[in-house]
Amino acid sequence: QESKLRQVQKMEAVGQLTGGIAHDFNNMLAVVLGGLELARRSLSKDPKSTHRHIDNAMEGANRAAALTRRLLAFSREEALHVEPLAAGALVAGMSDLLDRTLGDAITVSAQDLCGDWMTCADRHQLENVILNLAVNARDAMHGRGTLTIVTAATQLAEQAVGRCAAGDYVTIAVSDTGHGMTPEVMERVFEPFFTTKPIGQGTGLGLSQIFAFIRQAEGEIHLASTPGEGTTVTLYLPRYVAVGLAVPERVSDAAPMQI
Ligand code: ADP
Repeated sequence: QESKLRQVQKMEAVGQLTGGIAHDFNNMLAVVLGGLELARRSLSKDPKSTHRHIDNAMEGANRAAALTRRLLAFSREEALHVEPLAAGALVAGMSDLLDRTLGDAITVSAQDLCGDWMTCADRHQLENVILNLAVNARDAMHGRGTLTIVTAATQLAEQAVGRCAAGDYVTIAVSDTGHGMTPEVMERVFEPFFTTKPIGQGTGLGLSQIFAFIRQAEGEIHLASTPGEGTTVTLYLPRYVAVGLAVPERVSDAAPMQI
């Protein structure tokens, strides 16, 4: 009886994992298809940009290939590569990818207020989380608007956010000027398979996957949304402090945000 239950739980976990990967894969295919579509349109008029669009599509395809390699690594039970990361640099490294994924009518702006604060995460996993948030923002803006990503050194005072204790966090806030969410939608967004998107466009797994990632990192995710105005999703990741190294009292070039 008990082993049957465990088997069911295992199948559920496998189902969620596969669905999550399908979701990421779908985002990458969106990059490939977008690039190819632009290449086709520019073919007769502007061969130079055709080259660029094909390069973009190839980069998307390479990311998808990297994802399947990771999936294979996972099935061999290889561990994630968790390392100290500078969130601002990670976001800056994604700027080309974000520009291309979001299209010309969406302005992407990034601001880094982390100073020398670092967090610990698997680089590819964190990049996928940010890409997921950006794709949600794009969909909410119907392809037109502003996406802002602010990475910051945040000291949580006594009143903690969600399950987060008071302490030092690296925060990544992704804001859009999209249609926002009603309180009813906000309540359900972390449920696996909850989506308001048309069939074939949403799997409802993006935010539940991000929730799992944040849980595992012992962080928190916070939503703020106003219907008709936009949404801000803020990730709280514990600050990484190197053992045995002196830690500066304050961030040199950016004052920590007080919440
Ligand atoms: P999916 O994107 O496949 O629908 P998610 O779990 O990523 O799955 O999102 C679930 C739902 O949350 C979306 O269908 C949408 O209704 C809502 N949502 C997520 N991000 C945003 C956003 N930035 N603005 C407005 N609604 C959002």
